[in-house]
Amino acid sequence: MSRKQRSISLVSEIRVEPVPPGIRWVYLVETRSQEEADEIVRLFRELESQVQVCPLCAGKLVGYAVQAHHSDVMLLDEIDDVLRRAYAFVVTYRSFEPLIYRIVGELCKDTQSTILPVPHCNICGNLDPFPNTVVSFTDCSGNIVLSRNYCSSCTAQTNARSHKEFIKSLLTADECDFGCFKEADFVRRASNKRLIRFILDECGVTSDKQ
Ligand SMILES: [Zn+2]
Repeated sequence: MSRKQRSISLVSEIRVEPVPPGIRWVYLVETRSQEEADEIVRLFRELESQVQVCPLCAGKLVGYAVQAHHSDVMLLDEIDDVLRRAYAFVVTYRSFEPLIYRIVGELCKDTQSTILPVPHCNICGNLDPFPNTVVSFTDCSGNIVLSRNYCSSCTAQTNARSHKEFIKSLLTADECDFGCFKEADFVRRASNKRLIRFILDECGVTSDKQ
């Protein structure tokens, strides 16, 4: 009787990164050379300081999902302009839907490009390149041993009155069993708007690392 062994890591901290939802666009560019593909990768890497960027595919077809906050929406148009001026085949979708990801998958097959994995919500399973809340578990050295993603609609369904209750309700609804955290005592650490931290003692999670 051999069962697959998965490592259990002891968690010493839980980190929560809330990301406000924004406007999402998808850009697809069919490139004619490796140089063009590299240029596009550089362009989106530079944009990361202003907007959130999630690569969707690589190869002859290069694709990115971008999330901008309402004040930066002009930038989404500007990206579209820049790409259309420089490249022959550019497709822009003004949203991100699972159907668009499927279309990207089909176009990748046609162009021998590689579709890249996109995060999914660990409650409802929907694809979400920019999860509204990311909960990470770290070990005593501060290394992330496991991360969980939650979409905005699942996050909105929690009626929590505190950050502590909020995390517990997300973990309770998670597709994985995080029952051990239900009774665990979370102690708030120095946090900021972008990262809320709690310490806790002696809770084990099944690590991502095999
Ligand atoms: Zn969800």
